[in-house]
Amino acid sequence: MAIRVGRWDCFVCGHIGNLGPETHCTSCGSSRPKDVVFYLPEDAKIVEDKEEIAKSKAGADWVCSYCDGHNKIDASICSTCGNDKSEKEDKQLEVRNLMLDEVPNSGARGISRSKETPKKLDKKAGFWKYILGASGLGGLFIWLFSFSTTIDVPVVEMYWERQIEVLEYKQVQEEEWKLPSEATSVESFQAVHHYRKDITGYRTESRTVQKKVGTRRVVCGQKDQGNGYFEDVYCNEPIYESVQEEYEAPIYVETPIYKTKYRYNIYRWLPNQPLMASGNNERVNWPSVPSEITNNPKKFKTGEQIEKYLFWVKTHKDEKVKYDVKDADTFKELYVGKKLKAEKSTIFGTYKGLKSELFK
Ligand SMILES: [Zn+2]
Ligand SMILES: [Zn+2]
Repeated sequence: MAIRVGRWDCFVCGHIGNLGPETHCTSCGSSRPKDVVFYLPEDAKIVEDKEEIAKSKAGADWVCSYCDGHNKIDASICSTCGNDKSEKEDKQLEVRNLMLDEVPNSGARGISRSKETPKKLDKKAGFWKYILGASGLGGLFIWLFSFSTTIDVPVVEMYWERQIEVLEYKQVQEEEWKLPSEATSVESFQAVHHYRKDITGYRTESRTVQKKVGTRRVVCGQKDQGNGYFEDVYCNEPIYESVQEEYEAPIYVETPIYKTKYRYNIYRWLPNQPLMASGNNERVNWPSVPSEITNNPKKFKTGEQIEKYLFWVKTHKDEKVKYDVKDADTFKELYVGKKLKAEKSTIFGTYKGLKSELFK
């Protein structure tokens, strides 16, 4: 049950690391902040002295209701203003049980006991601390990158492609467990439909399992005594051991189950060579459908239409950047040599993309 000496920081003069039990700053003499947060540095001193251990357990310090000054539990008058201790009016500092990850280890990161904000805060320093601290160096770069300059970039290359799927009604051979009514049967035969898994017996095997064999006491938190001292809080933690365990493992045998399968001829619409058109300018068109297809509706039909529109711009850095256009009308507005509005980073000079939402 180790007891450690906490620390606190003085808001008045900025002195860091006053010893927890001290009610007044060793540098300027001010009382601890009203809502002081004690913290426990990594190398906090462990209290060995019997008398000091007793003091740490005496109880939380009291806060004077006249001046907010802090006082040890056995003080009968306020060490700051001299008023008498009043059991009725004066409050005691809170005694708190903290999980290990909740124990502050420095003053700066301490969680205040109340919503009171430190009085003095340099606004400019606070801003940079926010930019660099909250969002990191990456955040600073993103912020600087957000400044843009508009530039003109020419379209240097265009490509479009339009495709029409062609389907042909063809006879094919298929195999299934059922014969479709419109199909012509070729043959039927017995085939393995699935396997049945049966347990035929058991075999003794061994495996490693984790077994709880007891519990141990571990330090899982700290009790903030409200007087500058922290005391270890213990929890029970289970102890596991690897043990070999025997168990009955089933032995399976797989039996094939046969069913009648059909091989048959059937007519299906199947994809044929698609019709294609493409070009390197804004004059887009659909491929013409040959009369062989239009005159034989029982044998041929057209299917899905696929269209693709791409263009490239040359940036101020002489790099070619590819863009995808979703609809033909937007693409038709472009031509090689046309200048589009784009953005570059004012600070870094990097190309940031076209301004128009149509090309995002
Ligand atoms: Zn001070
Ligand atoms: Zn007082």
